[in-house]
Amino acid sequence: MRVRTICWIRRDLRLNDHSALARATELGDSVAVVFVFDRNILDDLRNPQDRRLTFIMESLLEIQRDLRARGSDLLVRIGDPLEEIPRLASEIGAKMVVTARDGDPYAIERDKTVDARLSEIGIGFETVRDVTILEAGQVFNQSELPFRVYTPYSKAWRVVLDRETDLAPREPNFGHLAPAASLKPFERAWGYEEIGFVKVPLWIEPGERAAAARLDSFALRMSGYGDDRDFPAIDGTSTLSTDLRFGTISIRECARRALEIGTPGAEKWYSELIWREFYHDVLGNFPHVVETTFDPVFRDTEWPGTRETFERWCAGETGYPIVDASMRHFNATGWMHNRNRMIVASFLTKHLLCNWQWGEDYFARHLLDFDLAQNNGGWQWAASTGVDSQPYFRIFNPYLQSKKFDGKGDFIRMAVPELAGLTAEQIHQPTRFDLAAVGASEYPMPIVDHEVGRARALEFLSAIKKLDPGKDG
Ligand code: FAD
Repeated sequence: MRVRTICWIRRDLRLNDHSALARATELGDSVAVVFVFDRNILDDLRNPQDRRLTFIMESLLEIQRDLRARGSDLLVRIGDPLEEIPRLASEIGAKMVVTARDGDPYAIERDKTVDARLSEIGIGFETVRDVTILEAGQVFNQSELPFRVYTPYSKAWRVVLDRETDLAPREPNFGHLAPAASLKPFERAWGYEEIGFVKVPLWIEPGERAAAARLDSFALRMSGYGDDRDFPAIDGTSTLSTDLRFGTISIRECARRALEIGTPGAEKWYSELIWREFYHDVLGNFPHVVETTFDPVFRDTEWPGTRETFERWCAGETGYPIVDASMRHFNATGWMHNRNRMIVASFLTKHLLCNWQWGEDYFARHLLDFDLAQNNGGWQWAASTGVDSQPYFRIFNPYLQSKKFDGKGDFIRMAVPELAGLTAEQIHQPTRFDLAAVGASEYPMPIVDHEVGRARALEFLSAIKKLDPGKDG
C-alpha cells in the first residue's frame, strides 16, 4: 500500500487529540507519521546536554512504541526540513503533507518554503490549528485591531471561542495509519548518538502518558490553584508548561478539564491558559517583539547593567537569597516557578538595570519549557517594555516577595543549602553576623542595596518615560 499522506509532527508530540493526525487520517487511508530533527535548530544549541533533546527524544520513542503497537511506525529524519520533507514525501509517493501551524517567525518562514518546494513537485501542504486554541488573526478589538492588554483580550477571546468546535477533541482514525511494512524501506537510524546529544536526567517524565498523569494529578489540586499558585515551596501549579511547549498534552484537553471542574481555582487556571493564548497572539501580530521592545520608548535604550553583574545573577551569586535560590534551582533543573521567574526578571532588569534580552536569552537556552511567545512576553512584562506590562515604577522588593511567598524559607533552604541553618526571620535578608553563625560567611553580601537599586531604576526608567518616579510594589 502506498503512503498517501505524511503527518509531520513538530511541537505536537502525542497521538491523541491531535489536529494534524486527525486531519491526515481523515484525508487518506495510509498516513505516515514523520518527525525531523532540524539541524538548523540543533546546531544553534551549544550544549550537547541540552535537556530539551532528552524530552523530545523520549517522547518520540513513546510515540514510536505506540505506533508500532498499532501496526504502524514512526519515520525520523535528521537534517534540514526544507530538504528532508520534500525528499521523503516524494520518495514515499505522498500526495499531501499535513502539519500543525507554528507561529514562531522561524517556523513561519520554514513552512512557507516547504510549501513552495512541495508544490513544485505536485505535493499538497496543509496546516491546521493546534498549538493554541485560538490563533493570531481570530481575536480583535472593536476597531478590528489586535489587543495590547490582557483583560480585554481575554474577554474577547471568550466571546470568539466556540466551545463545541474549538475545544472538541481531534481524535485520529488510527485505522488509517500506514502499515509498518510499507514504511520499512524508508527507515533511517536515529537516536542520541545520531543527533549528537546525550540523554540527561529530567525533573519531569517526558511523553504523552506522563503528561496525562500530570494533568490527572493536578485536576485533584486544581481547585486550590488560586490560593497555592504563588508559593514555590508548594506543589500548587500544574507543571504542564513543558508538555504544552512540546505538545505532549493538548491545550484543548487542558481547557476542557478546567471547564469541567469549574471551581474558582479551575477558572483561575483557565485564565492562565488564556495568558498563554495572549502571548501567542502578541507574537503573531507584533513579531518585532522578538528583536526589540514592544514599547517604542525603550527601543534605543542603552541598559547600563554590566556583564559582570549579569554573570553573578546567572550563577545565583547576588546575595539576595530568593534570587539566588531561584537561579541555582533553575540551573540545576531547567525549571523555575512563575513567581520566581517574575522576581529574578524584575531583579535583573530593575535592580541591576541589565538588558532584558540578556535574561530572555539565558532563559531561552536553559528553560525546559522555553516558548518564544511566553518567554518574550514574560521578560518584556518584567522589564516594563512590553504589552500590558508591569508599570515601570512598580518595582518588586525581593525581600518582601521572599517573605510573602516563601515565608518559612523552605524554598531557599532547598536551593541554597548553606543558608539552611538560618531561621525564617533571618533567611530572607541575612546579615554578615547571621551568615557567620551558620558557617556561611562565603555567601555574598547583596550585589546592590535594595533602596539604592530601586532609586537608580526609578531615576533611569522615569527619565526614559519622562515621568515622575512612583511607588514601591
Ligand atoms: P500553571 O500555573 O499550571 O499554568 C498553566 C499553564 O498556563 C502554563 O503551563 C503556561 O502554559 C500558562 N501560563 C501560566 N502562567 C503564564 C504566564 N504568566 N504567561 C503565559 N502563560 C502562562 N512559560 C512558558 O511556558 N515558557 C517560557 O519560556 C516562559 N518564560 C517566562 C519568562 C518569564 C520572565 C516569566 C515571568 C514567565 C514565563 N513563562 C513561561 C510563564 C510561566 O512562568 C510558566 O508558564 C509557568 O511557570 C509554568 O508552570 P506551570 O506549567 O506549573 O503553570
